[in-house]
Amino acid sequence: MINLVLFGPPGAGKGTQSARLIEKFKLVHLSTGDILRGEIANGTPLGMEAKKLMDQGILVPDEVVIGMIRNKLEQHKDAQGFIFDGFPRTQAQARALDKLLEEQGTAIDVMLALDVPDEELIRRILGRGKDSGRSDDSDPAIIRKRIDEYNSKTAPLIEYYRDQNKLQLIDGIGTVEHIFELIGEAVDSLGKH
Ligand code: AMP
Repeated sequence: MINLVLFGPPGAGKGTQSARLIEKFKLVHLSTGDILRGEIANGTPLGMEAKKLMDQGILVPDEVVIGMIRNKLEQHKDAQGFIFDGFPRTQAQARALDKLLEEQGTAIDVMLALDVPDEELIRRILGRGKDSGRSDDSDPAIIRKRIDEYNSKTAPLIEYYRDQNKLQLIDGIGTVEHIFELIGEAVDSLGKH
């Protein structure tokens, strides 16, 4: 199995790179943001509650996203591995993920952390919002809030994975192809496939 955490602030290119990674390495893609947007699209109570927070750029509660990931891991017991995209985003989520994987006799192999400066993130997200129609991608104040949430609650996870010797920093500025090459080299260096 290969289990990857694709990490980085909103707009760093996690979704774009995930799409390429799942194809190349035949992994199951688990994006909590996508799962939450699916819940909203289906009008579920969970989706309606989450939407209120997402529209403000605030993280949804840990129990909610941990429960979603637990269900997905159950559903994909025969997977060759996972890409975690937009999860974990807090220390509690990271610890829960380690525990869930340990219960299945596996673990995170590497955190691929995309590094992109804030000004570039805002520019990219506003560009994406025009195409996707995502409400949290269209308002600069909400985007700023999401970046603040990332810096205060999520960025410390870099240390969490560094302490486990699992951190690979990836320069997230450049063409999609070039960044994918850097990611591919980091995954190849695991020597697992
Ligand atoms: P994303 O598509 O990953 O940028 O996520 C969009 C929004 O969904 C975030 O701004 C949060 O409100 C919520 N969200 C997604 N993943 C998580 C998570 N792991 N923990 C808490 N909130 C999340």
